[in-house]
Amino acid sequence: MPDVELLFLGTGTSYGIPVVGCKCSVCTSQLNENKRLRCSALVRYNGKNILIDTSPDLRTQMLNGNISRLDAILFTHHHADHLFGLDDIRIFNRIQNTKIPCFAPQKTTDMIYRNFDYIFKPPPLSDGGIPQIEIITVHKPFILYDRTIIPIPVYHGKLPILGFRIGSLAYITDCSFIPDASMALLEGVELLVLNGLRYTPHVAHYSIEEAVRVIEALKPKTAYLTHISHDVDHGNIDFPLPEYIQLAYDGLAVRV
Ligand SMILES: [Zn+2]
Ligand SMILES: [Zn+2]
Ligand SMILES: [Zn+2]
Repeated sequence: MPDVELLFLGTGTSYGIPVVGCKCSVCTSQLNENKRLRCSALVRYNGKNILIDTSPDLRTQMLNGNISRLDAILFTHHHADHLFGLDDIRIFNRIQNTKIPCFAPQKTTDMIYRNFDYIFKPPPLSDGGIPQIEIITVHKPFILYDRTIIPIPVYHGKLPILGFRIGSLAYITDCSFIPDASMALLEGVELLVLNGLRYTPHVAHYSIEEAVRVIEALKPKTAYLTHISHDVDHGNIDFPLPEYIQLAYDGLAVRV
């Protein structure tokens, strides 16, 4: 089975780090790993670039990652920090001269139709100004460029959202609960990405301690925490992480 590569494009929570107006030690840190764009990742396999979520930092993330082609987008959910960069995919329509397929849970497809209504009812004289996408609602495994993508239903507070499993890689963000049936879908995962927001509990996100407990139950070879707030200093982590669990950072690329 060929490799799958995961590139972390953004590992921050919804405000991004540094937080505007904040003078805390993480927001003023010189450490690159403490600068976190909004949460997104790129999966590469079979020569294809698959984006997970379109963050408001999408343009910067494409430039930082030197990404000049997008073959599909997987959406975890519709929150602004995961969706509102969608307009910036226009440049890929222009470069590739194709629509980009977007796979999303039902609520996200509803919100794309609502929040980006101009895509579906383009105003006159909109030449070149409208993203060209094809929306596919997903809830069951599907094939994308010869690999099976397994949507993993999880809860983000009370909101049902999706993680994704591709072979032995799984990417789950904005999660506060994984039902048993979804834990079963994650069995045998070697590389697991899970959100770990901060040290203290949050109603809609795993804390670092909660994330570590879930990871220890799933026993991947390697795990990375993402969607991290400014409470967490990459250079001085205030929680004992087992060696195989690390904080992700923007620009980190891993293979499985
Ligand atoms: Zn988020
Ligand atoms: Zn701060
Ligand atoms: Zn969210």
